[in-house]
Amino acid sequence: VPLTPRGGGTGLSGGALALSGGVVLSLTRMKQVREIVPEDLYVIVEAGMITEELQKIVEAASLFYPPDPASRRSSTIGGDVATSARGLREPKYGTTRNYLMGLEVVLPTGEIVRTGARTVKSVAGYDLTRLICGSEGTLTIITSAILKLIPLPEHRVAILAVFKELEKAAEVPRNVSLAGVIPSVLEIMDPAAAGAVSQDIPLPPLPDGCSLILAETDGFRDAAESEADMVEKVCTDLGAVFVRKISEQGERERLWDARRGLLTSLAKLHPVLILEDVHVPRNRVVEIVHSIADIGEKHGLTIATFGHASDGNLHPTILVDDLISDKLEKIEAAISEISERALSLGGIVSSEHRIGTGEAGSPRQKIGGEALDVMKRLKSAFDPGGILNPGKMFT
Ligand SMILES: Cc1cc2nc3c(=O)[nH]c(=O)nc-3n(C[C@H](O)[C@H](O)[C@H](O)COP(=O)(O)OP(=O)(O)OC[C@H]3O[C@@H](n4cnc5c(N)ncnc54)[C@H](O)[C@@H]3O)c2cc1C
Repeated sequence: VPLTPRGGGTGLSGGALALSGGVVLSLTRMKQVREIVPEDLYVIVEAGMITEELQKIVEAASLFYPPDPASRRSSTIGGDVATSARGLREPKYGTTRNYLMGLEVVLPTGEIVRTGARTVKSVAGYDLTRLICGSEGTLTIITSAILKLIPLPEHRVAILAVFKELEKAAEVPRNVSLAGVIPSVLEIMDPAAAGAVSQDIPLPPLPDGCSLILAETDGFRDAAESEADMVEKVCTDLGAVFVRKISEQGERERLWDARRGLLTSLAKLHPVLILEDVHVPRNRVVEIVHSIADIGEKHGLTIATFGHASDGNLHPTILVDDLISDKLEKIEAAISEISERALSLGGIVSSEHRIGTGEAGSPRQKIGGEALDVMKRLKSAFDPGGILNPGKMFT
């Protein structure tokens, strides 16, 4: 009987859909914190725990679990591990993978297996923990995780900058990096994305056609403030028409809620969103945003581009009101041109949202022939009957 593990159901590549029927196994009622160990900086938590809830629980003990996919209000720790979720704070803090010390999993053959350790170092045998991380529910059912914690930063400063030209906003990540600052968050929104959230952010009304940079610095108070000053200077030097630093917690949270709610805000304007996932080297962000805008114009499509500008991972999102067939052709052409452009700039496609149902291209193209064959052999070793999440990734 096919078995599909499911967490919050926020995955963007259809990974939790029961393509072959069978049983969908929801983990959302397994949400206990089993143990928090402040002196050794780790927490053991069940797979169905909502990411944001875990963050609030550990923050009450002055500890910090940084990975924060924009879906953190509904996604689960099990889903984050299974998709190796990234997040807004990746530039400074890394991703789910970097905080994973060990797992408790159930194999499709029924055995319960524990991987990793409660210690920071653990080198015996193959690193099964990291193999399962990102396996999209095709190798094991994750029931709990040992997660690394760090001390909660003392102070945070958000920086909001408005640019008339998208290309100038796209230069911010490179210049911030050259200035020697690693902000905890550095996000970009083109005019279509900025327009959708302009009502929800702490700003005077935005003139049409403006792009936004949203950043945050954190750490000890003096360090966070002086890094925020440096990000502000980079934005001002690039011609930002408005820059604001925000330390007050309520206002900062409003800003990040607006960013995390961006897809919902876009869906209120256009009910059908086709979200893409491209990643280019940081010094090619200017070129890719320029090309995406040109491709949209060429096909008469509205494309809102936003994303994690700090590492060049962008989500061009095609906005339409319905999916009638002549539009579909244009959409497919635009997606393939955006992907080709990203590849030609030394980038990749599907960098963050995993493969899932695999609709976005052939796995042999994405993974490569020999590596794909090794992966299939690994899948058979974990799941000889092929019952766990069939039809996903490459099966
Ligand atoms: C608005 C929005 C913003 C997002 N932002 C980000 C972002 O910033 N960064 C990012 O990386 N992703 C992002 N995502 C994608 C998605 O939210 C993440 O991949 C998230 O971690 C999935 O968690 P989930 O609990 O919802 O998993 P689900 O959607 O329920 O499942 C996802 C996959 O994991 C498997 N799975 C789930 N739980 C388990 C388990 N316990 N054991 C084994 N397999 C399991 C499923 O079978 C499926 O293949 C976003 C999605 C949305 C809707």
